[in-house]
Amino acid sequence: MELINNRFTISGADVLELCDKYESPLYVYDTAKMQEQYQKMADAFKSTHIKINYACKALTNISVLKFFNKLGAGLDTVSIQEVWLGLSSGFDPKDIIYTPNCVSMEEINLAVKEGVRINIDNISTLEQFGLAYGDKYPICIRINPHIMAGGNDKISVGHIDSKFGISIHQMPHVERIVKSSHLIIEGLHMHSGSDILDVDVFMQGADILFEIIKKFDSVKYVDFGSGFKVAYKPDDYETDINQLGETLSARFNQFCKEIGKELTLMFEPGKYLVSEAGYLFAKVNVIKQTTSTMFAGLDTGMNHLIRPMFYDAYHQIINVSKPEAKPRLYTVVGYICETDTFGWNRKINEISEGDILCFKNAGAYCFSMSSNYNSRFRPAEVLIHEGNDYLIREREDMNDLLNKQIVIDL
Ligand SMILES: *Cc1c(COP(=O)(O)O)cnc(C)c1O
Repeated sequence: MELINNRFTISGADVLELCDKYESPLYVYDTAKMQEQYQKMADAFKSTHIKINYACKALTNISVLKFFNKLGAGLDTVSIQEVWLGLSSGFDPKDIIYTPNCVSMEEINLAVKEGVRINIDNISTLEQFGLAYGDKYPICIRINPHIMAGGNDKISVGHIDSKFGISIHQMPHVERIVKSSHLIIEGLHMHSGSDILDVDVFMQGADILFEIIKKFDSVKYVDFGSGFKVAYKPDDYETDINQLGETLSARFNQFCKEIGKELTLMFEPGKYLVSEAGYLFAKVNVIKQTTSTMFAGLDTGMNHLIRPMFYDAYHQIINVSKPEAKPRLYTVVGYICETDTFGWNRKINEISEGDILCFKNAGAYCFSMSSNYNSRFRPAEVLIHEGNDYLIREREDMNDLLNKQIVIDL
């Protein structure tokens, strides 16, 4: 988002005009930023054979999926429903990797029927899959390398108490199962968690996976998951993609040479590709001064953006109606009957009721985690592409709330 002639714009689209046209609250996404992030990652790893699979749980709108398909990305999915969304957005089944956690064998059978790549994350499913399919359907195995990633407990998924992946300490047992049921292991995967701050963490994980690859001749790809951090505050640390690209590519290419095989290196970023491409705009309904605090109350809440309450996430908040006003301190809250505070004591340009505030970094895990709590409608979504705005999801209405309900006479 840029300030041009005192008006905020997103790739040429005037923000206040968008809010007039589509009303608030409103999610807006910018394809130019998605493409820039995708290209940065592809460039950083250009010396390897790389495939970037967009982790679509971050933002599942099918127009966004189609855009990533056009860019040449694959898709990382965590449910059969995301697989179906990917297929209906035009992805080839072989470009979809399905990495579920604690799902039934029935759901895995559905994924087999669709022909997508399947990533198995526990021994029980591995055994059942072996019995059902043997060497008929190559699979990927999700390893837990027990690396402690950065961030807080809710977003670290590689450590010892995590429910994700098969522990590296269980590899001898995995090898026995693979051998006895003739399973073909075509991929190895690790996803150690979000917000990894350190290239060394990736390198530790890489070395562990490389050791395991040597045990399975059939491996064709290595998937390093994600963990790419983006800046949420102006002075935030961001994963140094070029340094990671240089260090990991060198090690990866050397390893391929050692084993005499050209492997594909995969990543599955969600946040890195879409977080900064998204904005949530909301209108200030009420300014309320209490004895100690100045509240700005919005026409949105935790039902539309839960990350601040769920993860303690920081989202920068800007008054896009008043680019030149003096900053004052506000506590920004939602309209839900819960304590849904978006930010305490934020410096924001002086707010009048009716002003539009913008939440930045609203592309990843924002709309996709939204709900109808308090029986509120979910917002509309708009995509900015080459200077044009496209409505890609209508605002909900009463029909959506009543859709699956069955009225009975008591
Ligand atoms: C959520 C998830 C990702 C994406 O994580 P980001 O932090 O958004 O990049 C990648 N892989 C798997 C298996 C996931 O569950």
